[in-house]
Amino acid sequence: MYLLKKVQDLQDYLQEVRGSGKKIGFAPTMGALHQGHLSLIRRSADENECTVCSIYVNPTQFNDTSDLAKYPRTAANDISLLTSGGNDVLFMPPDSEVYPAGLDTKIELSFGSLAKVMEGAHRPGHFEGMAQVVKRLLDIVGPDRLYMGQKDFQQLSIVRNMLDQLGMDIELVMCPIIRESDGLAMSSRNVRLTPDNRSRATLLYQTLSSILQSAETQSLEEISQRAMQTLSIPDFRPEYFEIVDGRSLQTLKQLEDTDFAVACTAVWVGDVRLIDNMILKSPFG
Ligand code: AMP
Repeated sequence: MYLLKKVQDLQDYLQEVRGSGKKIGFAPTMGALHQGHLSLIRRSADENECTVCSIYVNPTQFNDTSDLAKYPRTAANDISLLTSGGNDVLFMPPDSEVYPAGLDTKIELSFGSLAKVMEGAHRPGHFEGMAQVVKRLLDIVGPDRLYMGQKDFQQLSIVRNMLDQLGMDIELVMCPIIRESDGLAMSSRNVRLTPDNRSRATLLYQTLSSILQSAETQSLEEISQRAMQTLSIPDFRPEYFEIVDGRSLQTLKQLEDTDFAVACTAVWVGDVRLIDNMILKSPFG
């Protein structure tokens, strides 16, 4: 595996790859890698001749500076996981390569209501920063396929919308959520949970898993309200629990109104903010 830190070095390398007719798959990450990240790498390695993973903790998408400071950084472990995980190129740029002085990387797009709900409502500026860094990284890497996790469902919807708006010819591949054996969605933030909260955090998965059964007797509004109560145990503070249309991300009144329904939640567990979701109904099989 090549480890590159400079845009120019990466572009020189990828120019040769492209020149020999090889397809490039790209998985952007913020490091502290786990099996969820590695599932993206493996999928890309299966579908492309060259897989690029980036590790960059992007300051512009953190609305909370203490969250940025506390974000886990485990570079040595990340490098060894990627080396054995089938990754070809690791791009680990410093801030000065991603946001060089004099280069305007701000993007002037509006994501409309997609960015106003759920994460957008609770983390002001987050999606603007996320879209800015994804656009910048896509411009640098120029992949054929982009691999992102369903774990960040709203992020993926916004990136899809950005690719459409900019007419970027990149295939966006959504990879399923990889979970721990008790159902907790893998996340770089899980290591910050206290042992007690770690064992109780499976409640997010349990609550999401019970929706379809409840939907036989309760309205979606009732289910969401009850889920908020279920998740309000000591030291847990749910921010939202929404059952939304998988395309518009607008709250659904009933499952019959769509062929694509997703339940999404964000919960503070102690001082760690966890997000999770479950696809309840999908047109994609
Ligand atoms: P992050 O490093 O948290 O920015 O995540 C980088 C990519 O990995 C994003 O596309 C995430 O959606 C994806 N990802 C994170 N956790 C998981 C997981 N548990 N399962 C699958 N993909 C994940």
